[in-house]
Amino acid sequence: MAFFNALIAPCGINCGVCLAYLRKKNKCPGCLSVDCNKPQYCLKCRIKHCDKFNDSTFSYCFDCPKFPCTRLKRLNKRYIEKYSLSLIGNLNDIQKHGFDQFINNENEKWKCRQCGEVLCVHRSFCLHCKKER
Ligand code: SF4
Ligand code: SF4
Ligand SMILES: [Zn+2]
Repeated sequence: MAFFNALIAPCGINCGVCLAYLRKKNKCPGCLSVDCNKPQYCLKCRIKHCDKFNDSTFSYCFDCPKFPCTRLKRLNKRYIEKYSLSLIGNLNDIQKHGFDQFINNENEKWKCRQCGEVLCVHRSFCLHCKKER
């Protein structure tokens, strides 16, 4: 499975490595897709539904004049602490190198070295072969 641009949320999360997207049952289709099976915290996301975002034509927070705003910094801090992943870092990478390069890097970064399946940011082991990542 390979990632694609529409899986990258405005905040920099790659929905393709989210447990809600990778699970078999009640799969979340990702932030930028329809709302079915989305968990409450994403349905009510204060980033995707922020006024700046809704009143603008941009699709990613890096194009916002307030980037990186307090809200985004807070989510970023949580992701760094819990999952060692910087969402602002992701956004900076996209801005600097473009989507194609970012997606290529993500495909490599999240590939299980043992079975080749996609790893999950929310789990310390591969969902398929259980190898620690
Ligand atoms: S739960 Fe949220 S972060 Fe996860 S895939 Fe759905 S929209 Fe993306
Ligand atoms: S950077 Fe902050 S204010 Fe700007 S669109 Fe993203 S969440 Fe909204
Ligand atoms: Zn594996």
